[in-house]
Amino acid sequence: MRIEFKENNLLLEDDFSITKLSDKADRLFKSQINNWELASAGYKSLSSVQIKKFEFDNFEVEAHFNPGRIISSSAKVDSKSIGERPCFLCVKNLPLEQKAVKANGNYIILVNPFPIFPKHFTIPSINHVPQLIYDEFENMLLLSKNMGNEFTLFYNGPKCGASAPDHMHFQAGNQGFMKIDDEYDKIVEVYGKIVYEKNDLRIFSVTGYLRNFISMESNNLKSLVSSFKIIYKLLSKNGEVDEPMMNIICGYENNWRVIIFPRIKHRPSYFFEEGKDKILISPAAVDLGGVCIFPREEDFERVNKDLIVDIYKQVTINDEKIRYIANEFKDIIGS
Ligand SMILES: [Zn+2]
Repeated sequence: MRIEFKENNLLLEDDFSITKLSDKADRLFKSQINNWELASAGYKSLSSVQIKKFEFDNFEVEAHFNPGRIISSSAKVDSKSIGERPCFLCVKNLPLEQKAVKANGNYIILVNPFPIFPKHFTIPSINHVPQLIYDEFENMLLLSKNMGNEFTLFYNGPKCGASAPDHMHFQAGNQGFMKIDDEYDKIVEVYGKIVYEKNDLRIFSVTGYLRNFISMESNNLKSLVSSFKIIYKLLSKNGEVDEPMMNIICGYENNWRVIIFPRIKHRPSYFFEEGKDKILISPAAVDLGGVCIFPREEDFERVNKDLIVDIYKQVTINDEKIRYIANEFKDIIGS
């Protein structure tokens, strides 16, 4: 049964007979595509997304031509532009048709009307607070556990693809949509090195996957949070102002699996070219997860393996830096 109500100006839609958060999100999704034209059109448009597949050793990368993503990919995220626009994640600015379900912490779940995934949720904080992960990582783990194995949760840093760097939010999409969801075990087996393994916690470093990453697996919330904080501080040595640049992909099935992609650049050089040399791509978690989004057809037509390799190379950290993080982590946690 669908119940709509207002709580502190929040347009909530809930069914109290449903207990699982992922089921509540599913129900919200069905209701929104039936009652909100923008969302309905957004999800219908997914059927016309064109896909190119590129095979590499032990993995695959997809390029998607998805014109609905133009706003997000080309979003101006400098502080002047951000300061001049109404925040689209603040409750008071949400479209009238948009409804929410409450999640844990200060978070609400919204249906993203400009989807990449067949079911794509934005999970903003109720409060207008900056996109910063350090104190919110624990909430990320809790949200991902509550969303269950049907969805993968992800985070884009304020300079790593988040189109609202001024408003804390996560996103979630169908598990298995990003290539890394199913490739992960094989990739860690073939390209991974164990950084740490004790009790219930395993940490790996992975190179050779075009975009280097650090991953953590555990069923222990506390050890994941403290390990994340160590990695965060090691990455901070680059001297960033807000936070070390990163994207995070997190899933839960019996235990948590957290994949951290440290970044060195917000956007590749192609983004800033003019005319025919321009390629509009703004890599975020989904792109690093193996699904590269191109909102312009002329760019999609030009995508080839070399371009994919170069885009990843330009925005992610090199092998040497990954080794440094791994070694330092061992030193700190071993001491
Ligand atoms: Zn806001």
